[in-house]
Amino acid sequence: MIRISDIIDKIAEYNLDADMDLIDRAYIYTAKVHEGQMRLSGEPYLSHPLEVAGILADMKLDVISVASGLLHDVIEDTHASEEDLIKIFGENVLHIVSGVTKLSKLSFSNAQVREAESIRKMLLAMADDIRVVLIKLADRLHNMRTLQYHKSSEKQYKIAKETLDIYAPIAARLGIFWIKNELENISFIYLKPEEYTRIKKLVAKDRQERENYIETVKEYIKRKMDENNMPCEVLGRYKNYYSIYQKMLKQNLAFDEVYDIIAFRIILNTIPQCYEALGIIHSLWKPIAKKFKDYIGMPKPNMYQSLHTTVIGPYGERIEIQIRTYEMDRVAKSGIAAHWSYKEGKTSDVQTAKAFAWVQTLVDNHANVNDPTEFLENVKIDLFPDEVYVFTPQGDIKSLPRGATSVDFAYLIHTEVGNQCVGAKVNGRMAPLRYELQTGESVEIITQKGSQPSKDWLIFVKSVKARSKIRQWIKTQDKKRSFNLGREMFEKEFRKVRMNFSTLSKTPEMDKVVEAFGFKELDDLIVSVGYGKITPLQVVRKIIPKKEKEKQEGRSLISKLIGRGRKKKIGSGVMVKGVDDVLVRFGKCCQPVPGDVIIGYITRGFGVTVHRSGCSNIIKTNPDRLIDVQWDEEAKETYPVKIVIRSLDRVGMLADLATVISKYGANIQDARTQISDNKAVISNFTITVGNTSQLNRVLAALKKVKQVTEVYRVS
Ligand code: MN
Repeated sequence: MIRISDIIDKIAEYNLDADMDLIDRAYIYTAKVHEGQMRLSGEPYLSHPLEVAGILADMKLDVISVASGLLHDVIEDTHASEEDLIKIFGENVLHIVSGVTKLSKLSFSNAQVREAESIRKMLLAMADDIRVVLIKLADRLHNMRTLQYHKSSEKQYKIAKETLDIYAPIAARLGIFWIKNELENISFIYLKPEEYTRIKKLVAKDRQERENYIETVKEYIKRKMDENNMPCEVLGRYKNYYSIYQKMLKQNLAFDEVYDIIAFRIILNTIPQCYEALGIIHSLWKPIAKKFKDYIGMPKPNMYQSLHTTVIGPYGERIEIQIRTYEMDRVAKSGIAAHWSYKEGKTSDVQTAKAFAWVQTLVDNHANVNDPTEFLENVKIDLFPDEVYVFTPQGDIKSLPRGATSVDFAYLIHTEVGNQCVGAKVNGRMAPLRYELQTGESVEIITQKGSQPSKDWLIFVKSVKARSKIRQWIKTQDKKRSFNLGREMFEKEFRKVRMNFSTLSKTPEMDKVVEAFGFKELDDLIVSVGYGKITPLQVVRKIIPKKEKEKQEGRSLISKLIGRGRKKKIGSGVMVKGVDDVLVRFGKCCQPVPGDVIIGYITRGFGVTVHRSGCSNIIKTNPDRLIDVQWDEEAKETYPVKIVIRSLDRVGMLADLATVISKYGANIQDARTQISDNKAVISNFTITVGNTSQLNRVLAALKKVKQVTEVYRVS
């Protein structure tokens, strides 16, 4: 058990002017009023306020906080009165202690209502005096450390769950990571005991080996920093079991695949040294692209600062390294409290005030949210910094992933609002649909009846709901279009043989045909014809016996198909979204090649023609007939492309060009050359390539041929 002298020693380490007398008086008082009480562990109750005060001193908090920590349970659990406290310790201490007491007094029957209410109170307390919440965190931490003494495992589970759902996220949001980690780790023991034991065993397995490894890497880094005259401290530590577990879960990894079980940290004096150290690390070991994060230049919302990088270490393994100053390390340990000035009882600088504004905004707007479920859903998510929360015109709070736009918001309100949205008012001002919403903004969506979603929205929407609803809409539209088209085609084809499709469609013969093509409903067959998977003639033939006349018609249809540009069968290298075996052809006008952005055009009876998006022919067409298509990356097809080469006339030019083209694996299908008066040569080639990158390599190589002045693809 920690003693009061240990706590005083801790405080003296970071605050020489501290009023230790206040600590002494609080200790004597709390010892007196808790006299005779016991913890479940069998220890005297006094051990609890002492441990809590010790944790607060570890967080390097002011004397008022530590004294309040010593006294945090006296109002609730002893005969002490508020009058006593104000008389002996003053208004500040009373204010905080009664704040902590209020937070503990929650009596709701429904668990969810209680949870919502505790978060609400927590936020209110934070906005009022953050020290109340810091004491509550320390209190919870010690209670978690002694959770094994609870007799009921049901109770243990409940407390652990509450800790993981509320307290750990709050610690994270306030930037106190060591508390967050410890809370998560202990909760993990009670919530998933089997997984916890398994990971613990796995980590322990090669412990000695790993410990040697940590030492080797630490010493090596330290030596390199010394060689560069960079005084520093190097730390190596295991990540906590819970974060290993989460990594395995989220990325679906086996334990062996979780590489960064060990994290290293380099702590230096100045910011320039941090960047210099980063340079040294990157010159020693190869950094992994995308894994580098500069939280010094761009601090996290909770003011956390550090450089993060992952490199391929000395044994070919990945190592995670954090680089920061001593000051940043201090902030990372005590979080928001590190910036808190208690003398004035409020934030000490603009940065802190800003980082803290979210609490105030949240509290201000909560007066309107009465439904605890809704409140909980929104606020809980807000405790994770990857979310933004905004308000409806009615003042309801809505949460969205960071980077979400007006369109995401519209779909969150209602699918129809999303489908018909044309604009948004953000804080009363007009904003574009792709506007990225910021926390605290109020958003009103402007809709127009009959307005439709755009495919382009898919580029910028962030929420799963918006994305899937837009996709669904596009799919439905494609299907509707194909249906109308298919029906039209059927009517035409049956008219030719003097039959009425509408009448026929209700007959048992047609049912048989539908079945014969493997469909359940006639509508599906019609859609399939619209997509060009099946020709209406195939259906007509099933209905009436073959006649010579129709055979001829069939032949002419095929010849028509061949006559119309390049025909590709199934497996053309293009996929039409949501459909698998559509007849696909390529526009002769723009000759798309894999790598080009493409778009499909539904032609009457001839499936889908694929063009490059932006092709002048496609711009002129009816947008209702456009359909999403994409390259099938598996397909190994080659495609013709027209290219133009301008050069000066010289002997062997054509041979050189041909050599270069075949050197890059392309075939020449056609070549025409013109020479003008001034000896300039224009060569038109049609070559076949597999994709745009091969094409670009060919074009680049052609440019290097002697006396070639210009090379380009015909668009
Ligand atoms: Mn307590």
